[in-house]
Formats: sequence, C-alpha cells, structure tokens
Amino acid sequence: MRVVVQKYGGSSVSTAEKMRAVAAKVVEAVRRGHPVVVVVSAMGDSTDNLLELAREVGPGLSARELDMLLATGETVSAALLSLAVQSLGEKAVALSATQCGIITNGVHSNARILEVRPGRIKRELAGGAVVVVPGFQGVTEQQEITTLGRGGSDTSAVALAAALGAEGCEIYTDVEAVYSADPRLVPDAVALAELCAGEMQELAWHGAQVLKAEAVEFASTNGVAILVRSAFADGPGTVVSPAPAEPDGFRPRRPEVAGVTGRKDVVRLGLRASALSGPQRDEIFAAVSKYDLIFGGLAGDGGDGELFISNLEAADPEIFSAEFAARFGGAVELTEGLGAVSLVGFGLGSRPAALLDALRVLEEERVPLVKSFTGRESLTFVIPRPLVDGSVRRLHRVFIGGRGPASQPDAPFNPGN
Ligand code: ADP
Ligand code: ASP
Ligand code: MG
Repeated sequence: MRVVVQKYGGSSVSTAEKMRAVAAKVVEAVRRGHPVVVVVSAMGDSTDNLLELAREVGPGLSARELDMLLATGETVSAALLSLAVQSLGEKAVALSATQCGIITNGVHSNARILEVRPGRIKRELAGGAVVVVPGFQGVTEQQEITTLGRGGSDTSAVALAAALGAEGCEIYTDVEAVYSADPRLVPDAVALAELCAGEMQELAWHGAQVLKAEAVEFASTNGVAILVRSAFADGPGTVVSPAPAEPDGFRPRRPEVAGVTGRKDVVRLGLRASALSGPQRDEIFAAVSKYDLIFGGLAGDGGDGELFISNLEAADPEIFSAEFAARFGGAVELTEGLGAVSLVGFGLGSRPAALLDALRVLEEERVPLVKSFTGRESLTFVIPRPLVDGSVRRLHRVFIGGRGPASQPDAPFNPGN
C-alpha cells in the first residue's frame, strides 16, 4: 500500500473535539491498510495570536525569533493529534520539522523547502506508526528554525507527499472544495470538480487562500495530485491534477474563466531611476525579497521602474512602510492601500478580448485602475483596496454567475449579460 498524506488546516483542529474527529478520520485511513502521514496546522487562530503577542512585546521584530515563536503553534497541534490518535488505539508519533528533514533556505518567515530527507519518517512508518508532522516549519542546514510563509502547511504536505512517493496529497479544510470564488464572499460561487495545476497555482497566488501557491507549484513539478476536501463533510472535493486530466471524452471547450479572486495587501514601490543603478538597487531588492512580487516593471535606458509587492502579513504593513521610507526615502515612492482582483482560467492571459471585457466591467463600476497585467492563466487588476471585494463579486457575476457548474461546458460566452 502506498503512503497517504493528509493535511488538516487550523480551523479543522481548532478545538479538542475537532482534534478527536480528525484523529478518527486518520484512523479510518490506517484501518484501510495505508501507512499514513498527517500534516497539521496550528489550532484555529493561534498563529495570529502569537504574532499579536510578539507585536505587543515590542516593535522591530526579529524574523529569526518570530519563526521560533510561530513554529510552536504547529508543534502543539502535532503533539495533541498524536495523543488523540494514540487514544484511539493506534500507534502514532509526533515529530518536529528537524526530525522530518524538512530543509529550507534561510529566508525567515517565508522560507522555501530545498530538500526533504524523510529517513526518520520512513522508519517510523515501517514500524507501524502514524507519523504526525507539524506543517509550516522547516530547518536550515545550520539548524535554524524557519517557517514557510502563511498557509505554509500546504507546502509541507505536498513536499512530503512527493518525497514519500505518496498516492496523492489530501488537503482537508473548512470548505467542501475549491470554488469559483471565496464562498464566504460570493455565496453563489460554484464548486470546481477539477482544475489543472496552472489554474490552481494562479488562483492561489492571486489570493484564493484555500491552497498555497507554492504547494501547487511543488505538486506540479513533482507529479503529485492534490485533493481538496472538507474535513467534516463527505463530498467529492476538487482534484488538482499536475498534468491534464485523463481524457474521459471530448470536451468542446473549457469555461473561459474558472475563478475570480482578490488580494488586499498590495504596495506599489515606484523606483526612481537613481535607485536602479549602483548598490542601492541591490539593497532595495534584498529588502523586498521575502515578500511576493506580483508585478515588476523596469524601464530600459535608465528610466524609472515599479514593483508591486504583496504578502506583508508577517511584517506589520505600517512597520514595513516606515522602515522602507526611512531607508530609501528619496529613491522609492510608496503607494499603500492597494489590492488586486484577478480572473483565472486556462490560457486567459493571452486573450485580449477577455482583458477588454474585464476592463469594461471595472470601468462601468467606476473602479480606478492602478495597473493591469497578465499571467499565463490570469488577468490581474491592481485597484484601491476598499474596492476589492465589490469588484470580485461583480466580476464573478458577469463572468461566471448563473452559468452552472464550471466543470460543465458553459453557455456561449457573453460577459455583457
Ligand atoms: P486551512 O486552515 O484549512 O488551511 P484556510 O483558511 O487557509 O484553511 O483556507 C480555507 C479558506 O479559503 C476558506 O474558508 C475560504 O474562505 C477561503 N477561500 C478563498 N478563496 C477560495 C476559493 N476559491 N475556494 C474555496 N475557498 C476559498
Ligand atoms: N499556521 C500557519 C498560518 O496560519 C500555517 C498554516 O496554517 O498553513 O499561516
Ligand atoms: Mg491554509
């Protein structure tokens, strides 16, 4: 039997009762005969609470100490889940990221997994134990504790599934599937039966919290299929396949737009030409290296440039801005209070007609556009942060609303209706 990797997110283990329910699901998989590795996130809001506590202790947070602190949330969950599985009569062992050999680079608070050395996990599995792994945690070659960025337990799970040659990676969460938009924001969003990794990666990258983009990237490069399902309801969920799905009949065409998403923590850095030559350029790029660069455009011939960065949660956005202004004041102009909305669909980024349709929708809604750019499977519009939610709803209504399940062949595309 091949190894099964299951990951349970924070809301699925937020109380002792839920922890016991998760343990029961784990035991079900064990009793079907599978060796099981369970990756678990910190309970409920505990990562946010730890971050808040650190801010209360003092400003100027050291990223190294912050990682030591935040990593504890997942340690608590892993130990508790292991106890819960044991209390159901199965052998279980909770390990740390160090013991699991999850080796990362040294970018504190947003580290990237470089290698997995799963020797200890394999030995524990061979000895008949369920292995419970704290997600989100890594360790550098120098034995420094790191964390993988918010939502990083997904990445831990996929990396382990790849390293163990697992059957796939099951991600259990608090919604039943990946939807065409965040179902909390767009109540008539439709559940998507399947997505290709490229679409899912862009959906995640542009804000759909349900999976971390880097996890989807790892799944795609390592040939791991991801199944997203509810931790507590039975349903088919969403399959994210690393390659196009096995042909099960000719499909005349896919829906043009599979999903709509938004992100709210975008900052524009306007780089004066003077900042783009000499050592200051390197310093600026080093200072933003731990954030997500969602768009970067540099003019040639010694002109100005701009960077749009996101994922500022680990740092306090205000502290980020104050520190940035103090260090690079004259060379960099900061624009805060921005967000972005994105349409995602296979090949969408190369369709000018879709870009024009979306621009028209935003114009009709009088949404001022700061910048638009295209990805392979996406169109993104940087707009003022307060207008993000409304724009996601409006774009969803125009491009997806009322056409039925997105996995079915859709009605003729007409965004004007
Ligand atoms: P977990 O704690 O299990 O990791 P997350 O909170 O990270 O869960 O992700 C699940 C949440 O993602 C859902 O509660 C939902 O509000 C949000 N979400 C955003 N976009 C989507 C989407 N397109 N489909 C499903 N859920 C989404
Ligand atoms: N606990 C971490 C977070 O809140 C990691 C995760 O949930 O995946 O971001
Ligand atoms: Mg998550």
